[in-house]
Amino acid sequence: MSENAGGMANQRQVYMNGEIVAEADARVHVNDRGFIYGDAVFDTARTFGGETFRLREHIDRLYRSLRYVDIDPGLSKAELTEISSDIVARNRHLLGPDDDYWIFQRITRGANDPDGPGAHEGPTVIVLTVPLPLAKRAALFRDGIEIAVPPTRRTPPESLSPNAKTHNYLNLIVAANEVKDSNPGAWPILLDTRGFLTEGSGSNLFLVRDGEVLTPKREYVLAGISRDVALEQCEALSIPYREADLTLFDAATADEAFITSTSLCLCPVRAIQGRTLAEPDVPGPVTRRLQEAFAEVVGHDFVGQYLAHLDG
Ligand code: PLP
Repeated sequence: MSENAGGMANQRQVYMNGEIVAEADARVHVNDRGFIYGDAVFDTARTFGGETFRLREHIDRLYRSLRYVDIDPGLSKAELTEISSDIVARNRHLLGPDDDYWIFQRITRGANDPDGPGAHEGPTVIVLTVPLPLAKRAALFRDGIEIAVPPTRRTPPESLSPNAKTHNYLNLIVAANEVKDSNPGAWPILLDTRGFLTEGSGSNLFLVRDGEVLTPKREYVLAGISRDVALEQCEALSIPYREADLTLFDAATADEAFITSTSLCLCPVRAIQGRTLAEPDVPGPVTRRLQEAFAEVVGHDFVGQYLAHLDG
């Protein structure tokens, strides 16, 4: 790995095709297929107190996404894991107190015309860190998330598998645009083409009704690493749970709801489609138990971390 990183002590460093460069100097070619077609996959882990959580699972998921779209990264899982850890280590000192990173691995199929000027043969491999937007999202832990269901449906698995984490987020972005004018603070959760609840751009949904935890079936969503943690904790705490086709009726009659995502871990929902959930406390009792169990697993009080950024 070569380094163009001299004098970069105060800048975040990025891995870019075998080199370490300052983030501001990292360049993707104009004909890169990830840019022109979304012909790329990625994964996103996060740190807790500067340590990356479940990196192996994120790298495993990334390699499944790569196989699905038939891109050879030219690196082994072990190599990409080491590069990811190296980038976190290089950038850790730039984190503010009680801040943490997202860590992204992005792999595109490379330049459409590899012989063109400035292009290169083979895939484009990027590893970078981005500080988590803790202050921006802190109020979600105090007030709960409001969920809106947009008219646009999630791309069906018959067209593109939601199990792969690809650069094709336009479906989710168009859906987010539909709710942002009418309900600027709401997080969209899309229905699938059959009319069942799926996921948002970066989050999995859970409902709690009569003490049972329900979440959309794995075939129709990304199998979130945080979703796995939540389900594992249901099992550990003997909270009944089930994957199911969930309707808007299920959402309307839920007592509690929460979403899971790498950045938020497990965050309560306050309302769905403008309707406040039956449980008056946010988080409700089941959500709170799962938040506490989640914090144990990651070894970090992520709720306290977000709340500490409330005035940030
Ligand atoms: N669904 C989609 C479409 C996502 O992009 C993500 C984010 O990675 C998730 C769900 C949540 O997955 P995770 O918990 O691994 O962040």
